[in-house]
Amino acid sequence: MKTRIIGHRDAIELLPMSGCIEVMAGTFRALGRGEAVFPQRQVLWQPDARGAIGLMPSWLGSPPALGAKIASVFPGNTDTPYESHQGAILLFETLHGSLEAIVDAGAITAVRTAAVSGLATRLLAREDAGDLAILGAGTQAAMHLAAMMAVRPVRQVRIWNRNAERARQFVRSMTALHGIPITATATVREAVAAADLVCTVTGATAPILEGAWLAPGVHVNAVGASVPGFRELDTAAVARSRVFVDWKEAALAEADDIRVPIREKVVDEDHVVGDLADLVLDRAKGRAHANDITLFKSVGLAVEDLAAAHHVFEQAAALDAGTLVDFGAERH
Ligand code: NDP
Repeated sequence: MKTRIIGHRDAIELLPMSGCIEVMAGTFRALGRGEAVFPQRQVLWQPDARGAIGLMPSWLGSPPALGAKIASVFPGNTDTPYESHQGAILLFETLHGSLEAIVDAGAITAVRTAAVSGLATRLLAREDAGDLAILGAGTQAAMHLAAMMAVRPVRQVRIWNRNAERARQFVRSMTALHGIPITATATVREAVAAADLVCTVTGATAPILEGAWLAPGVHVNAVGASVPGFRELDTAAVARSRVFVDWKEAALAEADDIRVPIREKVVDEDHVVGDLADLVLDRAKGRAHANDITLFKSVGLAVEDLAAAHHVFEQAAALDAGTLVDFGAERH
């Protein structure tokens, strides 16, 4: 049996942002129709709390796909040459279960996460939103800039990062890449004050963004705090917002940005208006008024990885990209 191994560079090349946004739209439509199955992911932290490994199996009915992501998350890797998310997505063929591909999980996670925020932004942000604030300067910051530019007419960008030198590096590299005005700010408040799009993509464990700082009409993608113990938004930011999530069950299990305000009894579960499946299938009303503050809270779903990896595999098979290796044996 042949298994196709698709590394980081090939996976990135085969998954352009705008294409991935469409793949994610199709995936959430399938999810909303009940054509996807995935359990709550398992996350195992090393006893020294330096990093964790996550196991995320899933099945998708259309297109038919079966697989699992196994990835490590080492939040302290920003000061090293290593990405903070590394691993593999294993894709199995759905008729006989043979392993058809192993795809770089860092690449897929990087693109699909921002693509899902791009989809949420397309569905929730004001049409003319173009003043973007990004909190964080890592992999997701760069990917979210590309995603926001794919769905809205981004005119200018302000970036805040804990490490100010890394924010300046981001300004240099992203200005060269995209040719739009990007500046670094000393505080989160300065970054978000006039923004109509905000992306929070940090490893913060306590709130960095206060609801009081948000302008009427802004759309926020809150992406960083995707497992318990992490938080980027204060309670007021959630209470002031019309809240959507990627998948309600997963958000209520893992997103402390939502769970803490519920525990504090400032909001209840019904404060979450709906999920992306509801929005793409028109089962929930997104932005009701121009002045609404909309919030998309993302935790990341196994089925997003599966769909993106499957798409990359199909492209790679058509172009004969990646490397074929023998895996498994034929029955004699
Ligand atoms: P990177 O490691 O590339 O970047 C991490 C960023 O977070 C850096 O800007 C870093 O700042 C900042 N940061 C880390 N700790 C803190 C802190 N305590 N307070 C403020 N800022 C902090 O990671 P990624 O860009 O790949 O991911 C960003 C976040 O998004 C992570 O938390 C990750 O787990 C999460 N994520 C969520 C996904 C989802 O589906 N929702 C999917 C993928 C990632 P500095 O430069 O100062 O170190």
